[in-house]
Amino acid sequence: MHRTCPETERETYFSGRPIPLPPTIFCPECGGPCEVQVEEWEADTGIPTLGGFRLLCRAEEVEFAAALQEERDPAWEHRHFQSDWQPAISAAFACLKEHVRIRQKGGELYAQSSKNR
Ligand SMILES: [Zn+2]
Repeated sequence: MHRTCPETERETYFSGRPIPLPPTIFCPECGGPCEVQVEEWEADTGIPTLGGFRLLCRAEEVEFAAALQEERDPAWEHRHFQSDWQPAISAAFACLKEHVRIRQKGGELYAQSSKNR
C-alpha cells in the first residue's frame, strides 16, 4: 500500500521540471517509479495545489518520448483509470504538501527547511 513519504528535507523546484517521488509512491499499473509535473501552486507559499499536478509513470513517459522521437504510436500505454490511480495521487499530494515548494523560474526562492518550523 502507499504510505506517506519519508521525512526528508523540503526541497524547492523550478516550475516546469518533473519532480521525482520517493519509492513509497509507485505506479499503480506497472509498479515502477513515478514523478509529478506541477502545473499550479499557491503563489505565496509555493505549495502545489490539489488538482494542480499530474502524476506520471516514468516508464510510460520514456515510451511516449521515444515514440514521439521515432514518429510512431506508443507501443503501450497505461489505462489511467481514476480508481486505480487515486490512492497514489493522494499519497503524492500529501508528499508534495509536506516536502515540495515550487518557484517560478527566475522568481524568488521560498524557505526550504521543513525541520525548523
Ligand atoms: Zn507504470
